[in-house]
Amino acid sequence: MTEIKMPDLRLGVLLVVSGPSGSGKTTLCRRLCRDGEAVFSVSCTTRPPRVGEVNGRDYFFLDEETFMARVEKGEFFEWARVHGNLYGTLKSYVTELLLRGEDVMLDIDVQGAAQVRECEDEVIQRCLADVFILPPSVEELDRRLTGRGSESAERHALRMENAVHEMAHWKSYRHALVSGAHEEDYVRFGALLVAERMRVSRYLGV
Ligand code: 5GP
Repeated sequence: MTEIKMPDLRLGVLLVVSGPSGSGKTTLCRRLCRDGEAVFSVSCTTRPPRVGEVNGRDYFFLDEETFMARVEKGEFFEWARVHGNLYGTLKSYVTELLLRGEDVMLDIDVQGAAQVRECEDEVIQRCLADVFILPPSVEELDRRLTGRGSESAERHALRMENAVHEMAHWKSYRHALVSGAHEEDYVRFGALLVAERMRVSRYLGV
């Protein structure tokens, strides 16, 4: 009888999620992690903390000099300048968790996602799953960003402009989720992770 090699250790899913601010992306990512489905990769940033944000939970807040020193040391898996500030994903967070079979969530911009896609590391390529979260329309995005009220008109305009540029990249992703009602979006988002866990490339030794 032909011997079948059954799957043994499953690598984690590296779920790369992009989308403009106001798409609902961060809420979806945070909720799935809070529900214990994935580990949130806490990025480093040079942007100042917003009200309610906690260092080490939302981001590691660094000054630009410290950030660049860590770039030099090769500590980032990917990094980019977004809305005038630097953001980066720590390598140490990611690979170790994936090898242990933990699913890791990366809430990163389109430049960072492109760097991850181009990464030649075999583990990363086996684990990678990417999804772009689109708002229902540009008008709705504008309304949501205005509703936030946490930023000046100038920063709002910059975010809208960046959002439109960012949205131009949605077709580079394997999956797209057009956001609507949060509960439905959340179900679809969770279903994507569940399906990705079953991908054959996730199994070591296959
Ligand atoms: P915010 O300042 O609103 O938290 O995030 C601004 C943008 O930076 C979002 O699109 C977010 O996904 C992105 N971002 C957050 N962390 C990282 C990161 O580590 N790398 C990259 N490339 N983008 C990030």
